[in-house]
Amino acid sequence: MSKLFYQTKSPRPMLDRADGIYMWDTSGKRYIDGSSGAMVSNIGHGNPAVLSAMQAQMAQSTFGYRLHFQTEPSEALAEKITSLTPEGLDRVFFVSGGSEAVESALKFARQYALTQGEAQRFKVISRYPSYHGATLGALAITGYAPMTAPFDPMMQAMPKIPAPRAYLDGLDIDDPATGRHYADMLEAKILEEGPDTILAFIVEPIGGASTGALVPPAGYMQRIREICDQYGVLLMHDEVMTGGGRTGRFFGAEHWDVTPDIIALSKGFGAGYVPLGAMIARTDMVEAVLGAGGFIHGYTYAGNPLACAAGLAVLNEIEANGLTQNAAQMGDALHARLQSLMQRYPLIGDVRGKGLLLAFELMADRGTKEPLPAEFNAHSRLVDIAYENGLIIYSRRTRGGISGDHFLVCPPMIVTEAQLDEIAEILDRSMQQLMS
Ligand code: PMP
Repeated sequence: MSKLFYQTKSPRPMLDRADGIYMWDTSGKRYIDGSSGAMVSNIGHGNPAVLSAMQAQMAQSTFGYRLHFQTEPSEALAEKITSLTPEGLDRVFFVSGGSEAVESALKFARQYALTQGEAQRFKVISRYPSYHGATLGALAITGYAPMTAPFDPMMQAMPKIPAPRAYLDGLDIDDPATGRHYADMLEAKILEEGPDTILAFIVEPIGGASTGALVPPAGYMQRIREICDQYGVLLMHDEVMTGGGRTGRFFGAEHWDVTPDIIALSKGFGAGYVPLGAMIARTDMVEAVLGAGGFIHGYTYAGNPLACAAGLAVLNEIEANGLTQNAAQMGDALHARLQSLMQRYPLIGDVRGKGLLLAFELMADRGTKEPLPAEFNAHSRLVDIAYENGLIIYSRRTRGGISGDHFLVCPPMIVTEAQLDEIAEILDRSMQQLMS
């Protein structure tokens, strides 16, 4: 009996090894990693260049506490990542995961506001549904009751607005008026709460796990930026899932050419090789905080040389192999395959996403968008069936704030057309089994 107490709905087999997009359990059964873990293993498993960079670094040093030493890998990784960020976002604070990146962003924004004589600004508006991390600060801005409810008395729950869900509301996602409609809910919330109390707004450029790859309507991200500027509210992009090339651009927000003030990055940054994340901020903000005595924050393992050497090798692999472009191309190809499944299975009511951040949603009725009954338990049943069939996908029952079953299909960015055919074939078979 395992001494671990992670929650899994059904017991899972023991992992033996992994290579490329495939994983094997100790019985020899092979699985396609169709969700890159939790949208993490973006460059696939066992990448030789990353492994040899890690080995070389391990032979050199694995840890040098950041207050005792500067390290070459962390300097080099900071140079590399800032060559990919929008202009003006030029300073990096390394962390070991997504929650830490978001938590750092919250604390950094607050400290920056203090340097500006804005002590009254402390509220961070977010959206529901959303997931921004497991720490109490990140949970306070998370819009997902099953994960926040037990801890409500322990945190200061922050104001939230609905994430756009044009497909449920019968609006056109390509119509800028639709984007404006949803973004203006931010302005209304700012006014309701009192503009001078609002520190920041946090948003995933493309909704990840909580919404199932929900792409915002045309004009939404730009209008959000305008509103933040109008009220002196900092804009934070949670690129923990969208960053690193998965959406077909290095950062998800590049699809709309919108520049935030702070970016949280993780998952595909360490790409499953090491725990790694970053909070990237505007240079002038960092200078203000450092000038006022320093950032009162830190994690012991942050910026350790082994993690940074691996992260640098990951970014180099993405670049050298054109993986962001491959994510765009293979994303289109997988989107088309999911759409053809939608034509065959009336239960599939929506297919969405960008690049290889893709999802489909099951519905009882495509016309009315009525969800499947909770008792049908589609979100866990289909995942289990696909798992049996050798394909790992990722599901939630939280579409657009209303219960509904969505499934993320997000293989590593090295995936080939032939492997997409394998994925589509297993999904097809799994859908038949779900309905039989
Ligand atoms: N933000 C987003 C958008 C995420 O998807 C996640 C993880 N699912 C987190 C933050 C938290 O990251 P971690 O689990 O690495 O702490």
